[in-house]
Amino acid sequence: MAKIIDGKAISAQIKEELKEKVSALKADGMEVTLAVIQVGKDAASSVYVGNKKKACAYIGIRSLAYELEEDTSQEDLLALIEELNGREDVNGILVQLPLPGHIDEDKVIQAISPRKDVDGFHPQSVGALCIGQPGFVSCTPAGIIQLLKRSGIEIGGKECVVIGRSNIVGKPMALLLLRENGTVTVTHSRTKDLREVTKRADILIVAVGKPKMITKDYIKEGAVVIDVGIHRNEENKLCGDVDYEDVFPVCSAITPVPGGVGPMTIAMLMNNCVESVER
Ligand code: NDP
Repeated sequence: MAKIIDGKAISAQIKEELKEKVSALKADGMEVTLAVIQVGKDAASSVYVGNKKKACAYIGIRSLAYELEEDTSQEDLLALIEELNGREDVNGILVQLPLPGHIDEDKVIQAISPRKDVDGFHPQSVGALCIGQPGFVSCTPAGIIQLLKRSGIEIGGKECVVIGRSNIVGKPMALLLLRENGTVTVTHSRTKDLREVTKRADILIVAVGKPKMITKDYIKEGAVVIDVGIHRNEENKLCGDVDYEDVFPVCSAITPVPGGVGPMTIAMLMNNCVESVER
């Protein structure tokens, strides 16, 4: 019987630990502050931003909300980031993506000081991860490492296969698994025989962005399956990139959607905010 990896419970545990750290920092006279910038009123982004603010309030992190108009110029956005970079009382800066089409996301990401880059998207943060130096790590992959470790799943020496090579999930995921001494293979849309590769995996991380694409035909008996995908199906219910019911009987452990990887992303964002002060 497969073990269900409970991201809700593990993220709650991390939040409790962070709450304690934040109150200890406060006792030493240090406050943790996250600046959250949203440009426009994209409905999904508003939900994400709302959840981040709620998590900050719960843990005791002060959040500063900047809700900018859809037609805000790139220049004005960059000027705000510059101002926040220089503020001693701001530890983390987060710009909610995606940005409106007239703004160059890469320029915005690069404008955030690496010292305050709590999303871990700045090229300097990615470079630091690549060469094993300290820096902020992208929250979703960092959360997956915590899910594995806190579920007692050994990564060292294991065959780890990542489906997807995006900058925010696939690539940093592969680097983190490598840092944990996994033997890592990264697959993508040009991979010739995906099933043949995924069937070698002891740990399979699925970030393909296609609802229920991964069935039991892709899984080795006893593998650990981590599903990063989030989609709404025909009945408006959440589902992942993995066909959960089909895969469940063959794997040894699996993350559900919802309640698996999703809750970990915000927990790790909060963790990065606290780390930015501790550093
Ligand atoms: P992207 O669309 O940026 O990347 C998808 C990757 O999958 C690409 O590298 C692509 O290859 C690869 N791919 C597409 N089709 C195939 C195929 N048939 N076979 C093999 N590989 C394929 O997605 P993200 O990485 O941003 O996100 C992945 C999923 O995770 C999405 O469902 C997203 O909603 C979810 N997500 C969830 C988060 C959470 O907090 N739980 C956070 C971030 C994302 P190629 O590079 O060749 O195009």
